Amino acid sequence: MDLITRENPARVAEIVGSVPVTDPAAVDAAVRRADDAFRGWSVLPVAERVAALRHGADTVAARLEELAPLLARESGKPLADSRGEIGFAVAFLRWVCDEAPAVLAATEIDDDAGRLVVRRKPYGVVGCVTPWNAPVILAMLKLGPALAAGNTVVLKPSPLAPLTITEVAAALPAVQVIHGGAETGRALAGHPLVRKVAFTGGDAAGREIAATAGAMVTPAVLELGGNDPAVFLPDFALSDADYERLVMASFATAGQVCMAAKRLYVPRARTAEFTEAYLAAAERVLVVGDPLDPEVTMGPVISAAAAARIGALVAGAAGGTATPLGRSAPGHDPASGYFVTPYLVTGLDDHAPLVAQEQFGPAVPLLTYDTEEEVLVRADAGELGLAASVWSADEERAFALAGRLGAGFVFVNTHNRTGMSLRAPFGGVKRSGYGREYGREGLLEYVQSAAVHLPAAFRPGGPGMAPGAYPG
Ligand code: NAD
Repeated sequence: MDLITRENPARVAEIVGSVPVTDPAAVDAAVRRADDAFRGWSVLPVAERVAALRHGADTVAARLEELAPLLARESGKPLADSRGEIGFAVAFLRWVCDEAPAVLAATEIDDDAGRLVVRRKPYGVVGCVTPWNAPVILAMLKLGPALAAGNTVVLKPSPLAPLTITEVAAALPAVQVIHGGAETGRALAGHPLVRKVAFTGGDAAGREIAATAGAMVTPAVLELGGNDPAVFLPDFALSDADYERLVMASFATAGQVCMAAKRLYVPRARTAEFTEAYLAAAERVLVVGDPLDPEVTMGPVISAAAAARIGALVAGAAGGTATPLGRSAPGHDPASGYFVTPYLVTGLDDHAPLVAQEQFGPAVPLLTYDTEEEVLVRADAGELGLAASVWSADEERAFALAGRLGAGFVFVNTHNRTGMSLRAPFGGVKRSGYGREYGREGLLEYVQSAAVHLPAAFRPGGPGMAPGAYPG
């Protein structure tokens, strides 16, 4: 049996664990088992499903201190972040349990026009394909709503971070985990018994998954990349703590976050002041080193290939000035793993690859602008539209610009995870994908409306209707 062996990206000589590769025949068997299980799981009252999921949430919460170091060691995410991600996934699952009974309830109207029942029915087997950068929460955003709604799930996590999510999923009912890379993902997304596909990942895989699912007329939710602008209006007023939060909005998880602040647009007249405060904040909060060191806030990137790709983006930032940020933890040896120096890059134009592409790594460009209309156009340029942020001392002004930006989610006076809300729908516009996670919308993603209707005209004693007539 083939194995996926995962090394610690901070200490590449250390093997964290391995999982067996699921071959296509075993993918088929897993989907068939999920389809069988759907018959029992989907007919349980929602309260019973929710009770089982609450138990799963408690089980994961009880194992937090054991699972967080595993996540840190397989993903390179600092220990506090790893603890935070698992804790947030538990909080999200509990939120789903609280909300699901009301959101999923059938509606019934019985009046002079007749009787109409609209049920929210699960699809069947949901095939989930997820990335490595937040492997627990990005899977839970699919598992929680899909399972609460009565679907069963086959989950294929990324081969670059398969270990912690396998443990988490084992605590939940009606889920099977399969392992592998693109081939396993293809077999899952194209399986005829998969009734909905949920994907988070990059553009290339997303397009292929959409095509594979489309060929089967299988609906999909796609959460793809972003190149998120942070726009500082001329009246922005940032405290030291705001600057520190802003730095981590770009460099948490070494910049490998779909909704990280990836382009900073600063008014020309305030650029010097902004840059000075930003560099000072980075010196205070950005500490590079081993993710298990409690002082560390930025670990390695996920792989040697990612380190090389980001290195080339920074090296190719011709005409710009790359200023290294933050500091190293005492005793840190960058050669032990896939470490990349974090940079603030100034002096680029909007066509530079570091600005025009999603960098997905620890190098952020600072760009200057002159007018609000100009920055709106520049922030919205490109094919991606996941998140953005607007920073202003005037809340109304910030909300006005935020409403005009072409992004699925706009943060105000913060960016990235500090701006998230369990109740706020999250997802992209343009090529950042379709469908939503979080919030009521994220639950409704996993049900289809099914109507049962008796027109009043055909009730006993009703007036009837001429054959072929349209109702009035
Ligand atoms: P990826 O697209 O390489 O892989 C994602 C998953 O898809 C993995 O499980 C992978 O094995 C699988 N896969 C790859 N090719 C496939 C194919 N052809 N068919 C089926 N499955 C396939 O992405 P990644 O490198 O793991 O993650 C980085 C990307 O994810 C970035 O672009 C990032 O912006 C995006 N992302 C988006 C969100 C969001 O919510 N919008 C969140 C996190 C990450």
